[in-house]
Amino acid sequence: MAYELPALPYPYDSLEPHLDKATLEFHHDKHHKGYVDGLNAALAKIEDARKSGDFALLQHYERLVAFHGAGHANHVQYWENMAPAGKGGGGEPTGALAEQIKKDFGSFENLKKELSAATVSVEGSGWGLVAWEPLGHRLITLSLLNHQNASFIGSHPLLICDAWEHAYYLKYQNKRADYVAAWWNLVNWADVSKRFAQATHHH
Ligand code: MN
Repeated sequence: MAYELPALPYPYDSLEPHLDKATLEFHHDKHHKGYVDGLNAALAKIEDARKSGDFALLQHYERLVAFHGAGHANHVQYWENMAPAGKGGGGEPTGALAEQIKKDFGSFENLKKELSAATVSVEGSGWGLVAWEPLGHRLITLSLLNHQNASFIGSHPLLICDAWEHAYYLKYQNKRADYVAAWWNLVNWADVSKRFAQATHHH
């Protein structure tokens, strides 16, 4: 079964003024779709190799699976991590997630500063994220390079912010920090809390 591009969970103009309609159209319909197509193409090549028994180019296609597969997964989460401002988006975390944030970062304000820095400081293209790390039983921040590099395998991403220029350049140009500051108004804390509950269920 081929991977498919899921629809955006909200209308293209519903994240205005923080993220504009044109950015969401290009980002979802062109960029995200490109990763879905790239993943399917790479997996088809690996399926061909299985049939022929010729794995000479497997290394190449495995890299494409990692890049496009992580690109697809990151974008699915990015969309679900957001909601229109004031209608599910923005505010502060509550309950068990809020308690864990206080334990690991000292305060929500500290987490905000750290994740903003992790996102703004990405060299080139990448992502800032907060993950639950089950071995150490804690929340951590990470700065991904591209979609898949500098990740911590086994950790569960809870909240992810796209730092690729295609996520903000139409509206914010070079001002990545302004985009990240606006993005906080869109964070869907109910979705982040749901992911936290799932990630910590067996730990
Ligand atoms: Mn993107």
